[in-house]
Amino acid sequence: MPDRQTTGTGLVVAAHGRRGTLETESADRLQYLVRGRRLKVVCGDHVKWELDDTGKLAIVSGIKPRINMLERQPPGRTGTELLAANLSLLIVVCAPQPVTDWFIVDRYLCSGEIMGCRSLLISNKSDLCEHDPDHDAKLREYVRIGYECLSVSAQKNQGIEALRKALHEQIGIFVGQSGVGKSSLINRLVPDANIVVGSVSTATREGKHTTTASVMHDLPEGGRLIDTPGVRDFMPAVPEPQSVQAGFPEILAAAGRCRFTDCHHLREPDCAVKQALQSGAISKRRYESYRRLLRAVNGQQGS
Ligand code: GDP
Ligand code: ZN
Repeated sequence: MPDRQTTGTGLVVAAHGRRGTLETESADRLQYLVRGRRLKVVCGDHVKWELDDTGKLAIVSGIKPRINMLERQPPGRTGTELLAANLSLLIVVCAPQPVTDWFIVDRYLCSGEIMGCRSLLISNKSDLCEHDPDHDAKLREYVRIGYECLSVSAQKNQGIEALRKALHEQIGIFVGQSGVGKSSLINRLVPDANIVVGSVSTATREGKHTTTASVMHDLPEGGRLIDTPGVRDFMPAVPEPQSVQAGFPEILAAAGRCRFTDCHHLREPDCAVKQALQSGAISKRRYESYRRLLRAVNGQQGS
């Protein structure tokens, strides 16, 4: 039998402040403690570790370069807060009830694009008959832009197989407004997750600093799902004004034909985005989301 590994790299599968659990290259699980206060370790991180003198605790001394990071904008505070790293699938959940704020959906999709992470739009509660008549039309708009959309029901177990398939070999995370059914979907996908559904109010979740442990669940058929319970309905951070258009694929595609390479698509002449807006190729609603997000990132007032 080979000697037990005493040092190596590992994947962080649970994180709570400076402590958590990592999975070693040989798939063992070890409790860890981060050395020093400088390193901020989150679920999905690949870290360097070595066993301490007791031989039981892994001391984390470094983080391997991240492919991407999901960051939130804490309400009423400056700076961003890191939630998870190295994601391959951002699953944006909406539902006919509570009524979807499509700007929030756009903001999530935008952060997915900027992170370089594939996004999947899930419309949950397909069992509800009293649909907002507008809801399905909005979903079709996203399909036209090129987003994958799935209609599911956590309650009736509909569409869940397709969701499982989409998560195969991915590291995914659910994001979306409170009450859309993210906890219910995680419970469907991860049989032993046992997340309490509908328990915490939006106000409590929004205002709170992330003190809750975040965990990475193994999905029975392959793939992993990160859950950050304290912040399931957060505002994702968008780093800088120039990057906002990169978060809107249809705007970015048209932008190449604008007269000015640094066109903001607001009041510039010969703007291909404005032309596409006139012709209906770009939706007014999505363009308004773009402008609103640009204003928000610029730190200006208004919506
Ligand atoms: P979260 O805040 O996004 O995590 O949402 P929850 O999973 O806590 O669900 C919020 C509410 O929606 C709960 O009352 C759930 O029972 C309900 N819910 C979740 N999924 C469905 C669904 O597919 N259909 C219906 N009708 N209700 C659902
Ligand atoms: Zn332009």
